[in-house]
Amino acid sequence: MKHQEIMSNIQTNQSTLNQFSENEIGDDHLYTGINTPMKADAFSISDEVKKKKISLLFAEIMDILGLDLTDDSLKGTPNRVAKMYVDEIFSGLNPANKPKIALFENKYQYNQMLIEKNITFYSNCEHHFVPIYGKVHIAYISSGKVIGLSKLNRIVQYFAQRPQVQERLTNQIGQDLISILETLDVAVIVDAKHLCVSSRGIKDESSSTITCFYSGVFNTSEKIIELQNFIKD
Ligand SMILES: [Zn+2]
Repeated sequence: MKHQEIMSNIQTNQSTLNQFSENEIGDDHLYTGINTPMKADAFSISDEVKKKKISLLFAEIMDILGLDLTDDSLKGTPNRVAKMYVDEIFSGLNPANKPKIALFENKYQYNQMLIEKNITFYSNCEHHFVPIYGKVHIAYISSGKVIGLSKLNRIVQYFAQRPQVQERLTNQIGQDLISILETLDVAVIVDAKHLCVSSRGIKDESSSTITCFYSGVFNTSEKIIELQNFIKD
């Protein structure tokens, strides 16, 4: 896409985003849907080509900021950032990187809730491209199939490795677990810090944001209380 096309797209998006301009939205984080907004041709170019393009464009940003790209400390940065974006922190945009999940028969006949708590995650705010990090707690009740515990961490990582808003991250993990585990009895609680809130803007270092996804039996107050008792520190 040519530079002018990109700029006109950005301007169009600004004027149609829930009828608010970018200035009116400010630092408020709007959440437009459960699916990460992706272009239809998102994977028409290879990861290698993406890294080359990102590297060139990031070098341009650094150059515009006035940084000397011939300096030994800076000259490798555009390539490093490009590789980090595509291979690591935004690798979850590509469905090809979705973890392969094997389920097992529930031979233990365990039919109460299973909770994996304090799953550490790192993501990035899609409005500022600075980190969101925190803990995810997952609970489910087996429908007859069980999942390897480390796979819960991998599912969290996959959805976290995208530009995100916390509400969407929470719902994407919850919906995916419903489909993988073949049960509606799923709960996801995300407790996170946003660097766009703490390191800039309002500069609030103490606040954290909690979001939850409750489905099936987790929509009842008894189950929510039971779950919250288990995850409180
Ligand atoms: Zn942000």
